[in-house]
Amino acid sequence: MSPKQVAAVLHADWKPRATYNPTDEEVKTRRATYASRVWHKPTVQVEDIPIPEITSKEVLVRLKACGICGSDMHLYESDKDGYILYPGLVKTPVVLGHELSGIIEKVGSEVTTVKVGDYVVCEEMWYCNECDPCRTGNFNQCVNLMEMGFTDDGGCQQYMKIHQKFCWKINEFKKVFSSEDKIFEAGSLIEPACVAYNGMFIRAGGFKPGSSVAVWGTGPIGLGAVGLAKAAGAGKIFAFEPRPKRAQLARDVGADEVFDPFALQKAGTDPWQKLLELTGGEGVDMHVEAAGDPSFIMPQAEKCMAIGGKIVDIGRADKAAPVFFEMYQVRALQAYGTQGHAGAGVWPGVIKLMASGRFDTTKIITGRYSIPDVPKALEKLLSREDAKVTVKP
Ligand SMILES: [Zn+2]
Ligand SMILES: [Zn+2]
Repeated sequence: MSPKQVAAVLHADWKPRATYNPTDEEVKTRRATYASRVWHKPTVQVEDIPIPEITSKEVLVRLKACGICGSDMHLYESDKDGYILYPGLVKTPVVLGHELSGIIEKVGSEVTTVKVGDYVVCEEMWYCNECDPCRTGNFNQCVNLMEMGFTDDGGCQQYMKIHQKFCWKINEFKKVFSSEDKIFEAGSLIEPACVAYNGMFIRAGGFKPGSSVAVWGTGPIGLGAVGLAKAAGAGKIFAFEPRPKRAQLARDVGADEVFDPFALQKAGTDPWQKLLELTGGEGVDMHVEAAGDPSFIMPQAEKCMAIGGKIVDIGRADKAAPVFFEMYQVRALQAYGTQGHAGAGVWPGVIKLMASGRFDTTKIITGRYSIPDVPKALEKLLSREDAKVTVKP
């Protein structure tokens, strides 16, 4: 019998909505493309599960830190009909957690890229490398995608198995961070920053130094976007965030001005009007939607965009947003949908930036929990006051 470890496991019932017909593939694999249309009554349980066995190209990672993010919350929360809020790819039961760092504990016989003792972070998008999207470099659109913490066991356990190709070394963090704790906490913040980096700089092609950037929603990805905008030379960074603690963190990581959009509206000013005023009527060069509320944000953003401006939609929502295309034509605007962070040098880019000391979001961690306390952490997070809580296995 293999030795056991403690883990926080998401369970839910396979019960497709009356309005949704799962595909044959979904039924066969129980991997729902739209979790919010299939998975019912989610619960998170603390369990003893076996320490995974690795195959020749896999490694075993001893986990040191794992962030809980908005997506984890959306896996745990349900709507009024009892369905998981998260709209993406999910297969249950699954160990939660996809923002993690740790130490290589064991390597398979054919592993060449990492060795025992290396400090690593791990990619969440487990692309296959064989399908047509992968073969054309579109790893985030892999048709056989598996996702750590969503379809395969993730970071809320003590030991995790993963293919070597999804591990990146962070040994050089020893030079910038003063303690092991800090090194691994910093490592656990790489994944959400990679999501922001992929959207802003790979999908949308970035912005010129001096540009103005508005970040909507400063949860961990939004805070990553603020920090990256700063590191990349934005001239002005605005953020919208109704929660005071997160608003303060946005200032801490580089936002020049932070507004509560609803308080603004209450006082008679729309966020778009504020942004026009602050940019002298020019509008914003890049908007980053990181709140998961495009139906509110898109109509606001498109009214205050600089000529040639870009909207990067990162937040997830199973809901349509109205778009006024006339504005896109007249002002030469572009909206970019983005998901994931695989390929295109995203991971090494963020790791090198953090290792340079010019991008440090570690102050956004405001709560630390053990694995048995994960259900408690999720309960506490429902208030969304904390920015980032981290599980220490
Ligand atoms: Zn996440
Ligand atoms: Zn693929």
